[in-house]
Amino acid sequence: MHNYGAGPFVAAAATDMLTRNRIAHIPVGTGNTERYVAGIRKMGVTAIMATPSFALYLVDWLEERGIAPRSLGIARMAVAGEPGGGDPVIRNRIETAFGCTANEAMGIGDISITLWGECEDQGGMHFSGRDFVHVELIDPESGAALPFEDGAEGELVYTALRREAMPLLRFRSRDHVTVNAKPCTCGRTSVRVRCIGRTDDMLIVRGVNLFPSALRAVVNRFAPHVGEVVMIRPRTRGVMQEPPLPVAIELAAGAEPPPDLAERIRAAIRSELIVATEIELVPHLSLPRSEYKSRLVDFGKAG
Ligand SMILES: [Zn+2]
Repeated sequence: MHNYGAGPFVAAAATDMLTRNRIAHIPVGTGNTERYVAGIRKMGVTAIMATPSFALYLVDWLEERGIAPRSLGIARMAVAGEPGGGDPVIRNRIETAFGCTANEAMGIGDISITLWGECEDQGGMHFSGRDFVHVELIDPESGAALPFEDGAEGELVYTALRREAMPLLRFRSRDHVTVNAKPCTCGRTSVRVRCIGRTDDMLIVRGVNLFPSALRAVVNRFAPHVGEVVMIRPRTRGVMQEPPLPVAIELAAGAEPPPDLAERIRAAIRSELIVATEIELVPHLSLPRSEYKSRLVDFGKAG
């Protein structure tokens, strides 16, 4: 079952892929969680495809209503559509709540549906579009090609090799990834990546590039004190920001955080991302949630 709000081009290709793999699929559409849960129960759904934001939203939605997520019987989940599904804390929250495995996938509507997908090793998404799509890694600032070496970081650039009517040459994805080139236990030899964010979401804090999803990944390491919902609330509009950057972080349900938690999070962000922040810890369920893709930056308080 899935509730992706994809346009006809991508959605049709994705559903055709499911049919070809002899998978009965039930498209539900976005925006009606009640119907989604009823569908899972009535039709004995065992696998769902969702954005990580929706999976987390569904955990909270079910728990608020006294329903154990495990009782739905979901065994497998494919998470895609935004960065976060490969974040260990987010994945663990989803897998533990539903008692399922959650594997991340990534595509790009302009080029192809799922081009990258995780195997059972869960160490990043293998490239699976070989012979159809040529992929390159570049330095986003200079445009220079980078080798797919272990630990490399850059932007993915795609060239469609079999397009007849709509060629795309060296299409810049704006997706920034880190590379895992270590041999994989599954035996596949293709390189693996983890998406750390998109240029479109990036803020520049006094000259330092900051991906909101990278900040969330640092914050998430302070589980179980914190939940998974983080909101950056810049004081001014636009990409360029002056430190300290205000960040609201939700505490986990029933958390009794140590008194220095905010300071420890601030120090970790400062040391890993070189950005000064002003941390506000807020109660569980007090930040807005998304039923589709998470917004990690809220300019609502910006002057
Ligand atoms: Zn593998």
